[in-house]
Amino acid sequence: MARVTVDALRKEYDTGSVVAVNDLSLEIEDGEFVTVVGPSGCGKTTTLRMLAGLEEPTGGRIEIGGEDVTDVHAKNRDVAMVFQNYALYPHKTVFENMAFGLRMSTELTEAEREAQVVETAEMMDIADLLEDKPDELSGGQKQRVALGRAIVREPDLFLFDEPLSNLDAKLRTTMRAEIQRLQNELEITAVYVTHDQHEAMTMGDRIVILDGGELQQQGKPTDVYERPVNGFVGGFIGSPSMNFVDVAVEPNGDRLQLIGPDGEFAYDLSAAYVDRHADDLESSRYTLGVRPENVTVADDGAANAIATTIDVVEPVGSDNFLHLGLSDEFIARVDSDVRLEPGDRVTIAFDESDVHLFDAETGRNVL
Ligand code: ATP
Repeated sequence: MARVTVDALRKEYDTGSVVAVNDLSLEIEDGEFVTVVGPSGCGKTTTLRMLAGLEEPTGGRIEIGGEDVTDVHAKNRDVAMVFQNYALYPHKTVFENMAFGLRMSTELTEAEREAQVVETAEMMDIADLLEDKPDELSGGQKQRVALGRAIVREPDLFLFDEPLSNLDAKLRTTMRAEIQRLQNELEITAVYVTHDQHEAMTMGDRIVILDGGELQQQGKPTDVYERPVNGFVGGFIGSPSMNFVDVAVEPNGDRLQLIGPDGEFAYDLSAAYVDRHADDLESSRYTLGVRPENVTVADDGAANAIATTIDVVEPVGSDNFLHLGLSDEFIARVDSDVRLEPGDRVTIAFDESDVHLFDAETGRNVL
């Protein structure tokens, strides 16, 4: 296993007109499982391909296990990659697929190689498929083989490129748990790319969020969820997405008042909270952010209660999503036994500790 250092890594295409990865720096600890997430085109795959040695960086450095590998050819890096489309050799059996990488990279005897493949196949629950060809396997089985082929080589670093995207939802959940189990057992160092924020949040020791080729935030999933550095991260992480409302910010005695569009509501942040959290408020335009799960249906007299109407009730089993008439899209996620109908007047509330305040120009979270 190995520590990985990515220093000011950059990739430009089309003679600089496309900056796919913009001076990205990351430290990945030995045995750490890092998920990289972001919308389509944010530079996830390009980053991964540079780590694998499949794409030449325009600038910056990559170190794996203390060795500068920036100019080292892919086949000479001790890295295994697991792809979305499995990338198995169609004419080779499962055994041959798994043994192939081993044959290339080690000097084991035939018997040792066979023992290692069989042991890994048992761990992956594919021992009874060793004589099958890939086209005889289901999608889930193919992905197990692809994982087994990566694991059997015992590389320094695992790179996963959306490995579960081709599987149905149920199988994805199973394989997600499987990869986590392997990670715990083998303590592999891994970079796992996905566009699925749920996957990134549940699998990563650390989550790295990219947008437009740039690092937006990295940290423990819970920290990123609770303290998004900007509106992009706030909106990207969490489902349903964080609610956003444009607000004006005005002092109200020693408190700070957030005033909704057309004076629809006024929300007071206490002096103690503002002192503790707010950076200097320099801008004049802000966006209030609050997560649907932090919005409750409240009594009229509750502190900072906001009166509104219900547009749509979306039942999702254990919860109901109440779409409210507050801004373009404002959702409260409430227990399914809260019985309300479209058109009902309702009073909602949320705690000030759940309020995020984003500078409307820079997007920065100022609370
Ligand atoms: P997706 O989730 O859609 O795969 P991604 O986050 O993996 O997206 P990349 O594939 O890394 O994004 O692409 C980042 C940017 O670089 C995009 O704007 C893409 O169009 C551009 N790009 C990628 N490969 C090339 C290439 N070979 N030539 C020119 N532009 C490229």
